[in-house]
Amino acid sequence: MIKTIEQLENLNGKKVLVRVDFNVPLKNGEIRDDNRIVQALPTIKYLLSHGARVILFSHLGKIKHKETPDVIAEQMKKNNMAPVAKRLGELLNLNVHFVDVTRGDKLIAGVNALKDGEVLLMQNTRYEKGEEKNDTELSSIWASLADIYVMDAFGSAHRAHASTYGVPEILKKEGKPVAMGYLVEKEVKNLNRCVFVDEKDRPYVAILGGLKVSDKIKVIDSLLKKCDKILIGGAMAYTFLKALEKNIGTSPCELDQLDYARRCYEGSRGRIVLPCDSVVTDKFEGWTEKLVTDGNNIPDGFEGMDIGPKTIDHFTKELSNAKMIFWNGPMGVFEQTDFQAGTRAICEAIAKLNNCFSVCGGGDSAAAIKEFGYTDKFSHVSTGGGASLEMIENDGKLPGIVILEE
Ligand code: ADP
Ligand code: MG
Repeated sequence: MIKTIEQLENLNGKKVLVRVDFNVPLKNGEIRDDNRIVQALPTIKYLLSHGARVILFSHLGKIKHKETPDVIAEQMKKNNMAPVAKRLGELLNLNVHFVDVTRGDKLIAGVNALKDGEVLLMQNTRYEKGEEKNDTELSSIWASLADIYVMDAFGSAHRAHASTYGVPEILKKEGKPVAMGYLVEKEVKNLNRCVFVDEKDRPYVAILGGLKVSDKIKVIDSLLKKCDKILIGGAMAYTFLKALEKNIGTSPCELDQLDYARRCYEGSRGRIVLPCDSVVTDKFEGWTEKLVTDGNNIPDGFEGMDIGPKTIDHFTKELSNAKMIFWNGPMGVFEQTDFQAGTRAICEAIAKLNNCFSVCGGGDSAAAIKEFGYTDKFSHVSTGGGASLEMIENDGKLPGIVILEE
């Protein structure tokens, strides 16, 4: 059993340490997309309105502690949490106490000065090299700040770091309450529905695309156990087509995955559906010739960039009677306008369905859906790229969530 924040008793006056995912895209210190901050607001507001003293912490970007001091200083400057504190203050319409360190007297003083219903944000957790190593000393420093721990950073829940794992582990041993926030609760509920399949959700159709078969083997294996159909597009389709001895030209292909792809395809007994045509070009960037193949016969010197119109029709039909859909990975090189049609068509097909539970997991897929304006047409678009995939791969078990179990 994992507690929800609504099951926490007596929040008034309590120091609640909340792991949020404020890993927002920054450019020259400007936040380009504040969605991750927005997604954390319900939990923060609930805690504040119940009189808690809220201490927020999150990682932001990457800091490579093995680099030289100059490089590390540069990375720290780039990934300073200060702009996030400012934006959070605007969104909450509250003064956010920002503490620009991750430990020590200044942090302790900041926490002790908090009044009921006030919020503090500490500096980027990755300023600490022990964060990603789940260092015990660091975990106990952070744990010592809190009466209660709340996990709401779904996008980081697949990582057993100090802030996501070490801290709740210690607090639990001390008999202090740990709970999941609203965002984690929502993500877990929706993704678990794709993992533990109810018969009323069949036919259950998965759509897989994106770059590499090797990145997604565990996802494919897991979905094969659960789904009625798996539609495969994107670059990874060409490894499958090559395994079936089709001509794929210079399309991306992982030769070391051919055996896997063949076994997988044969083992699926017709449940894996591959493209039957492709949009191909003579070059990945700056192409001069573009054509649509008739069937899976890509001419030498050409590479597949998107699924073709017949495949779009076929995939759309397969989706038309689905009761549940899980989608990961774009159907083509959607970053280039010439090769967006496949990914857009899948969005369109899903948008038209009634009574279908549709979930998208995966960083690039979610970005494509957002760019094309379809986010609202899905039942759920996960905020966690890697985390949503690991939910599927590991049957709903992520370290940062499992540690919250009582
Ligand atoms: P996600 O982040 O949703 O899990 P991936 O990271 O696996 O998805 O894949 C996304 C990338 O796959 C995109 O950058 C897209 O351009 C690329 N891609 C899709 N189809 C092709 C293709 N036919 N050739 C090359 N790259 C492709
Ligand atoms: Mg990706």
